[in-house]
Amino acid sequence: MNIIEIFPWQESFRTGIQEIDEQHQELVALLNHVANYATFTPDKSLLKQTLAKLFEYAEYHFQCEEDIFAAVFPNEPETIKHKKTHTSFIKRLRKFEKALNSTPPDLEIEELLSFLAGWLATHILNSDKHMVLRINAFKNGMSIEEANDFADKSMAGSATTIVNVIVFAYQKLATNTLKLMKESRSKKQTLSLLLDVGNRLKMAMEYAKIGYWSASENLVNDDWSPELYHLFGLSKSNLTSFVSLLQRHYSEFYQQFHSAMQESFTTGDELFLEFPIVRVSDGSHCWIECKGYVSSINESTKKISGFMQDITERKHIEEQVSQLAYFDMLTGLPNRRLLLDRLQQLLSSCSRQRVNNALLFLDIDEFKTVNDSHGHETGDALLKEATKRIKNCIRESDTLARFGGDEFVVILPHLEPKELCEDHVERVAEKLLEQLSYSFQLKDLHFNVSVSIGVVVFNDNSRNESELLKQADIAMYRAKQMGKNCVCFFDQKMQEMVTHRLVLDNQLRHAINEEQFELFFQPQINQLNQVVGAEALIRWLHPETGMVAPNAFIPRAEETGLIIPIGEWVAKKACEQLRVWQTQSITKHLQLAINASYKQFADPNFLPLIEQLVDEYQIRPGTLKIELTESILAHDTKRLIEQIKKLKQFGVSISVDDFGTGYSSLKYLKILPLDQVKIDRSFVNELVTTKKDQSIVRAILSLSEAFNFEAIAEGVEMLEQKLFLEEMGCFMFQGFYFSKPLSISEFDSYLLNNLKS
Ligand code: C2E
Ligand code: CA
Ligand code: CA
Repeated sequence: MNIIEIFPWQESFRTGIQEIDEQHQELVALLNHVANYATFTPDKSLLKQTLAKLFEYAEYHFQCEEDIFAAVFPNEPETIKHKKTHTSFIKRLRKFEKALNSTPPDLEIEELLSFLAGWLATHILNSDKHMVLRINAFKNGMSIEEANDFADKSMAGSATTIVNVIVFAYQKLATNTLKLMKESRSKKQTLSLLLDVGNRLKMAMEYAKIGYWSASENLVNDDWSPELYHLFGLSKSNLTSFVSLLQRHYSEFYQQFHSAMQESFTTGDELFLEFPIVRVSDGSHCWIECKGYVSSINESTKKISGFMQDITERKHIEEQVSQLAYFDMLTGLPNRRLLLDRLQQLLSSCSRQRVNNALLFLDIDEFKTVNDSHGHETGDALLKEATKRIKNCIRESDTLARFGGDEFVVILPHLEPKELCEDHVERVAEKLLEQLSYSFQLKDLHFNVSVSIGVVVFNDNSRNESELLKQADIAMYRAKQMGKNCVCFFDQKMQEMVTHRLVLDNQLRHAINEEQFELFFQPQINQLNQVVGAEALIRWLHPETGMVAPNAFIPRAEETGLIIPIGEWVAKKACEQLRVWQTQSITKHLQLAINASYKQFADPNFLPLIEQLVDEYQIRPGTLKIELTESILAHDTKRLIEQIKKLKQFGVSISVDDFGTGYSSLKYLKILPLDQVKIDRSFVNELVTTKKDQSIVRAILSLSEAFNFEAIAEGVEMLEQKLFLEEMGCFMFQGFYFSKPLSISEFDSYLLNNLKS
């Protein structure tokens, strides 16, 4: 630390005795140290250390002085008086030292220092000088009395006044310097604090790309911080003002900003503006946010000041957030939420003005198969490609949204005139069907898919957005039922159908609880006309409408999942029947086939159920046959194949129903442990007359021979068909020619008759 001479050494302090003068100089220096540390260092330990030094030195110095004086004037009253002043100094110092243990206020320190300075000056100038004068006079041959007299005279009158003036001035100077130093210290601190805050603010503004501006109403006194030039990519020029630069390069922005400023001056409201610009320096697209607050300089003059900030990043984040909330990540299309918003808007505009609009609900028909068999990545790629193709079929003003999974919704708004509206929708839908029917090339795979489209047309807001979507969905569903790859317009009949379905579902649930079912048995016959078994076929004994055929409720039960409890019931009844048959010698050999749909196979409880029933009724597992339709294999899940294999391992027989109509895959015929294939009745129907059917049946028969399956023909209605089949090598039959499905009592009699013949 640099020591500032708060108490300067004065030449008038010299006494004439060199040893004493040197010690006085050292004392003044120590006093300066103490004053400096007291003023500038918050750390009191340094002050205490120096104070201790001052102490030590003062004691040493006083001793020296006393020795010198005592050598000349021992036991003189003057000497004793002088010694007393020393003691009082030490006392005062001790008090000060003690005070430092707590934190004395600045003022107290200041006063004390002033005292010490005053004491030192008076002591040196008065007391010491007087003493030295006496000693010198005595040494020059005067008597003690003469020397005292001489010294008194020299220090009296104007000399004393001068000494007092000097002491006062010294004291004043010292304390003033001290005060000044103190003030400057606190000023310095404030200043550096302010500078620090200012710097930090500046840095923060630079970092946040914030520029400061202020302007008076007439734009005369305006101030634009340098950061604003950066913000707009402008270079500062002495010739052109910032405002002119803005006007020149960002005229649109300037106009908006200027009118916002005027508005704020008029209303006193905060100025707020967000504006996109293309930065002239590098052509980058940015967003600028302006904020300003009006304040009054005096009664008539107002000023507006504020900030401008680059908010490009924030805008991007906002965009991303809204992208996440309102858009589908995969396809980038509006999601269900945004679709509902837009639809709502359209509907509210419908209330003002009647225009025709159409909503198309698209569903990719084979999407699940692609997804299941080739993985989600392929499924995703398919959806992206489909999105592109759909976009190609619609106008900019139309809305395309991804509704979920493989469902898309298109809104065609404002279709005029009304007569042409349906035509227009049909054309768009046809285009969609066509575009999506072209095969999809994804990596090295080719796919052919199709879409089913449901349409609802609306021109008022009598139906809300979710009702419209529901109706379009119903129409789409109908399109699927009509064989997929087609368009269907919603009409009231569909609504009725839906209502009917809901009624059916309820009744079916009730039927399951009440067990309103019965199993019928259709005999299966061998080459020798013997009954070898039967197929169990369910009937619904409806309390109001009478007997209902399975085609009227099984497909719906499959859709709703109600087929699971129904299937359980069938399996249980079939095992019960097998149990009965196995206790009698004439029926012991009979096999019973039950039908199982895809949903049942996919159900993890199916296999344990069969095992449990076979166990419970103690039947030979081979007598229970499970018919699975060929279309099950289209699902191709590994688990499904595992399931079939396990059933077979358990000993149950497996038959493939409706063979030849669906997904005949040689691959599966090879890996699946089948016992039987059922030649579908559609091939048997015109077998006798149609060559094509004959070739198909022949092919099936040679396949089953190759793979060692049994073949059975279903739907045999005439003797000719049976004979033809026999000739081709098929020796198992089922069909009306032999018998319709029969109730159990009818079946029993049929069996007896068969045995007799
Ligand atoms: P399916 O498995 O193909 O059953 C054969 C169907 O053909 C039966 O109709 C039967 O009455 C009929 N049929 C038999 N012989 C002839 C014939 O010579 N000519 C004609 N035209 N038809 C014949 P049903 O009983 O109405 O069953 C229809 C379908 O319902 C069955 O077709 C089967 O897919 C399903 N189904 C029946 N019972 C069950 C069941 O318990 N569970 C499951 N999951 N589905 C069942
Ligand atoms: Ca069947
Ligand atoms: Ca069949």
